[in-house]
Formats: sequence, structure tokens, C-alpha cells
Amino acid sequence: MDKKALNNIACGLFVLTARDGAKQNGCIINTVMQVTSAPLKISITVNKSNFTADIIKKTGLFNVSCIDESAEFPLFKRFGFASGRDTDKFSDYGDYKTAANGIHYICKNVNAFISAKVLDVVDVGSHYMFIAEVTDAEVLSDAASATYSYYHQNIKPKPQKPEDEGKKTRWVCKICGYIYEGDALPDDFVCPICKHPASDFEKM
Ligand code: FE
Repeated sequence: MDKKALNNIACGLFVLTARDGAKQNGCIINTVMQVTSAPLKISITVNKSNFTADIIKKTGLFNVSCIDESAEFPLFKRFGFASGRDTDKFSDYGDYKTAANGIHYICKNVNAFISAKVLDVVDVGSHYMFIAEVTDAEVLSDAASATYSYYHQNIKPKPQKPEDEGKKTRWVCKICGYIYEGDALPDDFVCPICKHPASDFEKM
């Protein structure tokens, strides 16, 4: 079986936001699907380790901002590669508005936002799947939506070729482009930038 086949499933990229009291938080997901048109429902699938998943499980409310092709890497770094448990992702960030449900949504480098109320939570293993009714939605621009493959080809930083290439063994993080140097990549290595595991690295 070649698991790389699953990388060829086309999917978009989204900032998923939720609020617990005064705490506004968000993360990056690539798993928003429309599931029905009447009533209008979407599903999202979120890793259980994400603080945003905990908040949605508790509050049953979230917003999804659809990232467009104008987005740059810092947006992904801010919302995707840090945990809201340790940081306030909105503290020095101005490109958001607050929807009628009281939750922030991103208003720059995104082409739409959707507000939703959770109807069902399915425990699917590493992730929760939330099935939710759409309560509000707005188109924000006519820019094309960024897909996961567009991110890999155009947004993620390109690994820099070091001058002493070939002298040391290097592995590159397929998610963010971070380069690890050494004799062997430890099995329990975690990318210092995006926190993805050793299995998301490949030998250069
Ligand atoms: Fe990484």
C-alpha cells in the first residue's frame, strides 16, 4: 500500500476558530466538507490534541475561514504551528472580525467564512469529527481558495540548499520545510517549527 495516494485527495485549507469565555483560539485544518444542502450542514475533523478541538467539544460552536491563494506562510505559522494552550494567537494580530456567534474569524487572505453549531461529535480515533449546522456564512473575496497542494508548491518555504551539501545527512520536514542535520533522524523527533513527527520528514 502506498499511503502517498492519500496526499492526492484534493482539499482546502481553513482557519478553524472557537471561543471559550474570553479565550479566542484558532488552528489550521484541511478537513471541511459540506455534507448536506437541506438542512445546510458541514463536517470538520480536528486532531484531539488541538486546543481548538477541546473548546468546540465544550461549546459546540466554531467558525471556519477559507484560506485563499494570497495567504503567506506566517498565517500558517501563527495558527498552525503553535498551541493556543501556551499562546494567545490573536494578541498581536489584527486581521480578524467577530461573527454574530461571538467567535473571531479571519478577514484577510481568506475568501469566505462560515459559522456553525455542532449537532454531532464522532470519535474517529486520533480526531473528532464534528457535524454542524451552518448558522451564518459570507463571501469575503473572489480570490481562489488555497488547496493543500497549492500550499506545498507555493506557500511553504523552500528548503535552502546549504553550501556543504552532500557532506552531512539531512532530512526536511514535508510540512514546513525545516531541515534536520545529523547521522540519523531520531524516531521520536518532533519538528521544532510545526510540531509534526519524524514520519513527516524525508531524506534530502
Ligand atoms: Fe515542520
